[in-house]
Amino acid sequence: MARAVTVIGAGIMGLACAWELARRGATVTVIEAERIGAGSSGGTVGALAPHAPENWNPKKQVQLDALVAAEGWWAAVAAAGGEGPGYARTGRVQPVEGGALDRVRARIAAAQAVWPAPFRMTLTDAPEGPLVPDSPSGLWLTDNLTARLSPRAAGRALAAAIRAAGGTVAEGAGPQHPGALPGPVIWATGAPGLAALSADLGRAMGGGVKGQSALLALAAPDAPQVFADGLHIVPHADGTAAIGSTSERAFLDGAATDAQLDALIARARVLCPALAGCAVVDRWAGVRPRAASRAPLIGPWPGRPGHVVANGGFKIGFGMAPAVAAMVADLVLDGVDRIPEGFRLAG
Ligand SMILES: Cc1cc2nc3c(=O)[nH]c(=O)nc-3n(C[C@H](O)[C@H](O)[C@H](O)COP(=O)(O)OP(=O)(O)OC[C@H]3O[C@@H](n4cnc5c(N)ncnc54)[C@H](O)[C@@H]3O)c2cc1C
Repeated sequence: MARAVTVIGAGIMGLACAWELARRGATVTVIEAERIGAGSSGGTVGALAPHAPENWNPKKQVQLDALVAAEGWWAAVAAAGGEGPGYARTGRVQPVEGGALDRVRARIAAAQAVWPAPFRMTLTDAPEGPLVPDSPSGLWLTDNLTARLSPRAAGRALAAAIRAAGGTVAEGAGPQHPGALPGPVIWATGAPGLAALSADLGRAMGGGVKGQSALLALAAPDAPQVFADGLHIVPHADGTAAIGSTSERAFLDGAATDAQLDALIARARVLCPALAGCAVVDRWAGVRPRAASRAPLIGPWPGRPGHVVANGGFKIGFGMAPAVAAMVADLVLDGVDRIPEGFRLAG
């Protein structure tokens, strides 16, 4: 008989875990207090951008492996459920500061050392596309590994794939609390889940960092995304381009947008003149789950047999989710623990 597994939370972590478990034959039930993407996964940016290739470490390797595999992983989701996540590997362009050339050349060499072919970084004086940011040096760093997806479409696509595989995604089910839940239980409850974990374990396991983002009407679906002056500008398949994000440790309302987002939009328009006349079509805010380690937080919930945590996506949850899901499925279905040391919950 198929293994029954309950997943709490229908953000990217919960849905990715549920899909991975379902496609390996488990019978999954996802229980979501509100709706798919009600937490930080309901946003607009969706950059799948690699870490800097210098100072390589296990977290960067896990993310790299996940980004390389992402195209096939998301294609399988779309094939199973019939809904696309808006995924495309469209690359990235970054302006090069004057005086930063040596550092950029070292970065290109580092990428060559750790990225598998055909992925690479390149220096160019003639980047293509409508969204090229101004560059003080007249040079731009490009790469062909960075991809994007639509966070909202990705949530819908995963839910469709889970249902097509015989699983259940129950929305508006009310907040779940530990109790008599059937089967192993995966807690993918984002920032509120880190607070609950901290309270249960009596030590700080992490918390929430608010972010705001916007969508502008700009149809450039094949254009590389921009990373400049700390901003992500990400063209999507649906005729919009996302701008992200603020990073706010102190906030009163995690879902409210304000003047900080106006300032972000204004900066993006200065960086990329093509955005100047584009209307704002969406303003959004959410609270990212940031573990104390800043890495994903995965593993058995101490003191709760059968309960497993999948959390801590922080700023790269969409890129990391397939890797986290594979580790959770290995653990829950096969008893195989592949969780890197830096991702574990200490006992
Ligand atoms: C402005 C902004 C921009 C971002 N940009 C990017 C980006 O470009 N690329 C990227 O990879 N990442 C990005 N991120 C980060 C990414 O969104 C997060 O890492 C990711 O969404 C975390 O997913 P999650 O499933 O862990 O949490 P969440 O999406 O918050 O999901 C948790 C879910 O659990 C539910 N829940 C909570 N408690 C309970 C309970 N007790 N019972 C039942 N349900 C419960 C909630 O309702 C929620 O739906 C961004 C985040 C923000 C805020």
